[in-house]
Amino acid sequence: MQTWQSHPVPRVSGTPKPLRLHDTASAEIRLTTPGPTATMYVCGITPYDATHLGHAATYLAFDLVHRVWLDNGHQVHYVQNVTDIDDPLLERAERDQDDWVVLGMRETALFREDMTALRVLPPREYVGAVESIPEVVEAVAKLLANGAAYRADDAEYPDIYFDHKASGHFGSESRYDEATMARFFAERGGDPDRVGKRHPLDALLWRVARPGEPSWDSELGAGRPGWHIECSAIALNRLGMGIDLQGGGSDLIFPHHEFSAAHAEALTGRHPFAHHYTHSAMIGLDGEKMSKSKGNLVFVSRLRADNVDPMAVRLGLLSGHYRTDRTWTQDVLDEANARIARWRTAVESPTGPAAAPLIAELRDHLSNDLDTPKAIAAIDAWATQTGTDVTAPGEARAAIDALLGILL
Ligand code: ZN
Repeated sequence: MQTWQSHPVPRVSGTPKPLRLHDTASAEIRLTTPGPTATMYVCGITPYDATHLGHAATYLAFDLVHRVWLDNGHQVHYVQNVTDIDDPLLERAERDQDDWVVLGMRETALFREDMTALRVLPPREYVGAVESIPEVVEAVAKLLANGAAYRADDAEYPDIYFDHKASGHFGSESRYDEATMARFFAERGGDPDRVGKRHPLDALLWRVARPGEPSWDSELGAGRPGWHIECSAIALNRLGMGIDLQGGGSDLIFPHHEFSAAHAEALTGRHPFAHHYTHSAMIGLDGEKMSKSKGNLVFVSRLRADNVDPMAVRLGLLSGHYRTDRTWTQDVLDEANARIARWRTAVESPTGPAAAPLIAELRDHLSNDLDTPKAIAAIDAWATQTGTDVTAPGEARAAIDALLGILL
């Protein structure tokens, strides 16, 4: 699938700082240790609706990871998927009397536009679920062959399920106890009550074709892929085992990331799938949880249509820490707009205070688990001072662009 447009990232003077990042599996902030090429997989959208601010905040957090790694001289092999076949997409298409393929293409196109406007660096490979079906089939066949998967005891629809205990490491990513797992499995798309499974927590790998549903012929029989195996197959085939980071929103901790890791581990016999599992927190609106059921989603495309500066959206979302649940309000946006105006005045000034201490501070804060509130405070402090350094405004502008992705 086509990725979105990139833009040049300026080089920043001074000494980069290696990234320390929170890892859900160890519940610690740990040093990332990529080789010359860092490998990152971030779970993409299911394109049944437009990109809302919660999605945007997630992709912005991992965009900062991308930028800090680039600053440290790594190449970054970044892969993201699009779940362009799954129940929510089919349900929405049915509700709106829409063609599910057209709906998915339309929302994916809008997502690319949103990401470009927010200056999120694109993944090197942007991969759709539909185009990766042969990879999923191969992975599921392998899991069946090695005993990690089984057919549901159902003569009519013998769907294929994953034995959740097959990898021997189930639970190591989320650290949840069984009751918490059971609750999230039921709430987040799982099917604990499906008759014919060996255990309520076992996850769907391949759904046998039903009348009226799209399906693909394969050696498994006609059907379509489950969600978690899609990410395992796409990531393994492009990045291999032991990737530096798997990322997503905190609602993906379980079951999605637990299972995508367990599938990959059962496929390869190796552990762990990722050295860091990193999750961004949720964005609310005016103090309430933002959700489709409440009907209070704020869409990036709607803000763009209302002529809101995408850099203000970006800065507003970065003004809170990525691991803290935040709320979006008009005040957050107003403050971001005012801050951008102050920063622009400072970087357009013929002289300013020396940039090197500011750049060092930005690197300190961002390398410390992406501490954007402190990084932003450092720029605020610099922008309020005056100085006689003629190169400082340009250097500060380049650093703010390269490290925070804010184009002034
Ligand atoms: Zn995923």
